[in-house]
Amino acid sequence: MAGEAQGDCLFCKMAAGRIPADVVRESETTLAFRDINPQAPTHVLVIPKAHYPDAAALAAAAPQVMADVLREAGEVAAAEGVAESGYRIVLNTGAGAGQTVFHAHAHVLGGRGFTWPPG
Ligand code: 5GP
Ligand code: ZN
Repeated sequence: MAGEAQGDCLFCKMAAGRIPADVVRESETTLAFRDINPQAPTHVLVIPKAHYPDAAALAAAAPQVMADVLREAGEVAAAEGVAESGYRIVLNTGAGAGQTVFHAHAHVLGGRGFTWPPG
């Protein structure tokens, strides 16, 4: 169920400290850690500690926590020194868009140039 820890969910395990994570920030409701397969010099994932399958489900069920995720993404960008040059917050939603982990997360990507539209 949304919000409840899922025993087989990788990011629930990371939020619970059962799998190691390279944590860069933590708040009461969120955890930010480096992506294991970085796609940019800065590539940090910001997750809600509670389980929601994707960003849309999170925003619908717990809009304040979605706001927390976005605030923390901005704080990560500032701490990583990429806020000035510009950075990208990505919310892959659904397998067709490239979502592979079905626990809501925001990618914070920075430190290189980006093109639009994305590939
Ligand atoms: P998605 O494709 O679902 O938007 O993003 C999932 C992200 O999780 C990917 O960028 C992937 O590299 C990252 N990831 C998958 N497994 C792990 C892990 O065990 N540790 C960390 N830090 N990142 C992971
Ligand atoms: Zn989860």
